[in-house]
Parts: sequence; structure tokens; C-alpha cells
Amino acid sequence: MATLSPLLKQATPVLAERGEGVYLYDAEGRRHLDFTAGIGVTNTGHCHPRVVEAAQRQVGTLIHGQYTTVMHRPLLRLTEALGEVLPEGLDSLFFLNSGSEAVEASIRLARHATGRQNIVVFHGSFHGRTMGAAALTTAGTKFRAGIGPLMPGAAIAPFPQAYRYGWSEEEATRFALRELDYLLVTASPASDTAAFVVEPVLGEGGYIPAPPAFLEGLRERADRHGILLIVDEVQTGFGRTGRFWGHEHAAARPDVLITAKGLASGFPLSAIAAPAALMEKARPGSQGGTYGGNAVACAAALATLQVIADEDLVGNAAVQGARLNDGLRKVAADHPAIGDVRGLGLMQASEFTTPDGEPDAAAAARAHGAAAERGLLLLTCGAYGNVVRMIPPLIVTGEQIDDGLALWADAVADALG
Ligand code: PMP
Repeated sequence: MATLSPLLKQATPVLAERGEGVYLYDAEGRRHLDFTAGIGVTNTGHCHPRVVEAAQRQVGTLIHGQYTTVMHRPLLRLTEALGEVLPEGLDSLFFLNSGSEAVEASIRLARHATGRQNIVVFHGSFHGRTMGAAALTTAGTKFRAGIGPLMPGAAIAPFPQAYRYGWSEEEATRFALRELDYLLVTASPASDTAAFVVEPVLGEGGYIPAPPAFLEGLRERADRHGILLIVDEVQTGFGRTGRFWGHEHAAARPDVLITAKGLASGFPLSAIAAPAALMEKARPGSQGGTYGGNAVACAAALATLQVIADEDLVGNAAVQGARLNDGLRKVAADHPAIGDVRGLGLMQASEFTTPDGEPDAAAAARAHGAAAERGLLLLTCGAYGNVVRMIPPLIVTGEQIDDGLALWADAVADALG
């Protein structure tokens, strides 16, 4: 008898049988409030009827129109539809299956387009687990330890982690940009640097929103040195942060945008977007994949875009995100062990610390486990695993947010009490 490899590390013991909206139902019929959304994927909720209908229709028409062999309409239609929501000028798209693959594609594009090798990432970043993307990932030991040597050419600059430094956002931003300037005249000379790759909210690294001035500082340096600004919107895209794209909280237009997760409501699909003039510098055929731009995934993505627009999920993410942040702050006010509450839109987190301000992963794990016992599914993150994050589907109602907060308050009291 075969068994699943212990390589698989699962955050909860739930066996999910069925999903509907913000809920998952397990084998015993128990209902779980899913504030993980499949790691920020099921933005339209589990099995949104319009996504289901679109995918079912496509399954009976054409499942696999392999895109390096033949073209198919769902891919063409999706390209057109994404053109309506992408930042001005990012009018050329290439599709793959996962966030990591799209990150890899952006590295190739940046190296081809600039003729330079180095990619600068920011400490605490998560860009994926494939070997190129892993070289850009600094969110924790498990993503790097024992698998090297990783792809050369990745340089790491500080991300403005104000809470960790005990600084204001302004101080942290000033420090991070100064260190970046130093890096560009030392370890990664500007003339050798192809791109900055940045998350608008440091995701797996601890749910730390990039201060707008930081992203704007990157844009300014990118322009000054002919470096590309690649924004990894894999987790922050499609309304998650209360704007359609996470980078829209700052005045910093990306040269390349990476997207996946929320794009297709759970079907594997990712894309990179860039100006056509930039994409033309990539070598045709240098990217691809058997399943890239799968027809069913594209049909689901088209329906996803329509649901986001028709149900104003971006607006709802802003409103419910504020409600969630407010409630999390109230819980934190009763528990000094929650040292920080932060986030953008429906990407919110609580950071657990010991009385002397050190990361407290054990407390976070207890709160996470106590929440799961009460039927509230959450995830941890952060290099030390001491941050508990909430990423509900964007269809979540105020009442469901309040339900989640009540369960959270109870779980935290149990875990810390
Ligand atoms: N970039 C970011 C910002 C992510 O959050 C993730 C996934 N958590 C990835 C890339 C990698 O995506 P995937 O797991 O689909 O390869």
C-alpha cells in the first residue's frame, strides 16, 4: 500500500470533502470557517457557481489545447480580459501553471531583456520553491536549508520590517533604501543588476505591507539604473489587499507583474505581464510548459474576473479587511503576547512575542491549533513561525468576519490563558 510522503507538512488535520463559499466541510460533515482560502487562492469562495459553471462547460468542450502546439479561445479571451485590469502598458502576457514558474519566467525575461544577471530580492521574501525561485526566497530556513547551491546571481537587500527593528515605517524605509543603494555599489553593482523582485506585502515572510515610499524608492532607483521592477502579486493580486493590485497602494508602476493564486479561483494558472516592447526582448520558445494556459483554468479565470467585477470583491476586501483589522486589534489589546497586528485588506496577521519582545512561535502555534479546534482554519507565517495570518475569501460578509473574530478571541484566550 502506498502512503503519502512525510515531505508533506499539513497545517491542520482536516480532510476536506466539500467547499462552499467561505466554508469547508470535512468527512464528518463538520463545517470549518476557512480563513486560509487555499493560501489566498479561492478569492471568489469555494466553488463559486459561476466559476463551476464556466469550468464545467469548458471541460465538455476542450480540456487541453496545448498552447505551444495549438491556440485556444479561452486563452485569447482571458488575455483580452486581463488587459482591462492590468496596469496601463503591461499589455503582453505569458501563461504558466504556478506562481513559482511565473517567477522563473520573470527571471529569464529580466536577464534576456537587460543582458544583466543579478536579481535583487528583499529579506523575508517568498517567491517560490523551484530552484530559481528558491534562490529568491528568504522567508525561512525550510525553503533553503540543505538544498543548495541555489541559482547564483541573487542578492538580498533589507525589507523595511519596522516592527522587527522597533522603528517607525519611515525609519525602516530610509534604512532599507540606503542599504539597497549600498548594495548597488558593492555586492550587486547596478550595471550587473537586472531586476528588483518585490512583494507588495511580504507574504510568507510575515504579512508586512511594503510602505508606499519603499516601493516608490524602488521605482525611482529602477529608472535611474535601468533595472526592472518586478512586482510579485501572486498573493496580493485580484483584490486581496483592497485594491485590485497590491502595488496600487503606492505610486510605483511595475515593469513586470507576476500573478497566480487568485487568478483562477483554484485552478492552476499563473501569468507574467509586461510591456510588449520588453517581452519582445525575451527569446521566443525560452518559456513554456505542457500545461501552461490550460483551457479549463483559463475559462475559470474568465469567470473569476467577472465575479470580482460584478460582486465588487475589491471593495468588499477593503471594507471587510478594515473590520477584520479592527477586531484583531481589539483581541490584541487584551493580550500583550500579540505584539503587532497588521495587514492590507483581507491579508491580516497577528504577531506573537514573548514578554521581552522575542518571536513566540509556540504561542502562535497554540492559538492556531485552538482556532482549528473551534472550526476556524488559519495559517502561520514569518521566518520564526510566530505570525498567525487570516486570508478569508473576498466574498466574506461582515457577519462571517465577526464569527471568525469571536472564534479567534476564544482561541487566543485558551492558548494564552
Ligand atoms: N510568490 C508569492 C508572493 C507567493 O505567495 C507564492 C506562494 N505562496 C509564490 C510566489 C509561489 O507560488 P506557487 O506556490 O504557486 O508556486
